[in-house]
Amino acid sequence: MIAYLDNAATTRVCDEAAAACMKAMTECYGNPSSLHRMGLDAELLVTDARKTIAGAMGAQPEQIVFTSGATEANNTLIMGAAKAYGRRRRTIVASAVEHPSVAETLKALENEGFKVKRIGVLPDGTVDADAFIDAVNDETLLATCMYVNNETGAIMPVDRIFSAIKYRYPECITHTDAVQGFMKYPVKVSALHTDLVTVSGHKIQAPKGVGAMYIRKGIRIPPRNIGGGQERGQRSGTEAVPLIAAFGAAVKAQCGSMDTALSNARALNDHLRGKLSTLPYVHINSDENCSPYILNFSVEGVRSEIMLHFLETKNVFVSSGSACSKGVKSGVLAAMGLPDKLGDSALRISFCRTSSWGETDQLFNALREGYMSVAHVNG
Ligand code: PMP
Repeated sequence: MIAYLDNAATTRVCDEAAAACMKAMTECYGNPSSLHRMGLDAELLVTDARKTIAGAMGAQPEQIVFTSGATEANNTLIMGAAKAYGRRRRTIVASAVEHPSVAETLKALENEGFKVKRIGVLPDGTVDADAFIDAVNDETLLATCMYVNNETGAIMPVDRIFSAIKYRYPECITHTDAVQGFMKYPVKVSALHTDLVTVSGHKIQAPKGVGAMYIRKGIRIPPRNIGGGQERGQRSGTEAVPLIAAFGAAVKAQCGSMDTALSNARALNDHLRGKLSTLPYVHINSDENCSPYILNFSVEGVRSEIMLHFLETKNVFVSSGSACSKGVKSGVLAAMGLPDKLGDSALRISFCRTSSWGETDQLFNALREGYMSVAHVNG
């Protein structure tokens, strides 16, 4: 049996999404811009997906723009906000543990002369909310804070931070990269006091290559793709109808059962934590209040890659740090104050709504075996 425990990197496409994708590829394959019935049928699929995704966020359909994924959405929103509003206000406040698609965009803006204030995290992995709020002033054009950290599962107090910011500085634009929280927790735009949101399809059992951004009415984000004027001019290019339809189908399939899925993940997480805590060489890095979908831990004395490849031989698939930062050392655990030794031996397991007890036990048994056989090799 395969124990696929790398769902924060990507997920298996669910049956509903695969069926919707297939239908759009083989039956409703018209171009949504075409004036004939085939075009209209394709447009209806996009409209339906837009409604579903907007509904899941408590937004209006016209506020949702489809993209190729979260990386494009993060780039477009942050660069766009800086371009549209960065004349007078030149400072951006962000958490210090953002995903590279945000962090690298911020670096690029620094090179253009913007000032970026990065706010550190507490030992539990959550951003220091008071420091974040205090860092914002009337020169801040954008505050960006991810919703759930992709390496530790830390749930950031985005609602608290953004509501305080909006109260004091209503002009400051707020953005959250909600990729790891969407469809796991309610991501409601008004409750989060956010002007801009990023989500991705392939983290929620839709295919890779589709994402969406929410843009609050009245916020100007210049498009990065210009051309045929699709997506209300926000993102030109023929819509990826099969991927968009699949994204909508995945959201629809999950909408009614988020609580059940969360309880399942909680039970699996508790079970695994309990078992891991019996191993003296395991150090759990994710705080108990983190999202149960992600569990980060270190196997003392065994480098992440060594254990990862051992586990692979037992059909257990996990991640070292974050799959997005392949080969590049992640700063997230260090930002939490974890010594390098533990960071170098960190593994991340991540569940999806269909993860099972069997997979969890398979991981645990393989891990114990792995420690016995490779620990001495590392010295
Ligand atoms: N943000 C976060 C928090 C992520 O975890 C990821 C994917 N690892 C991304 C952004 C990028 O998503 P995509 O692959 O859709 O570009």
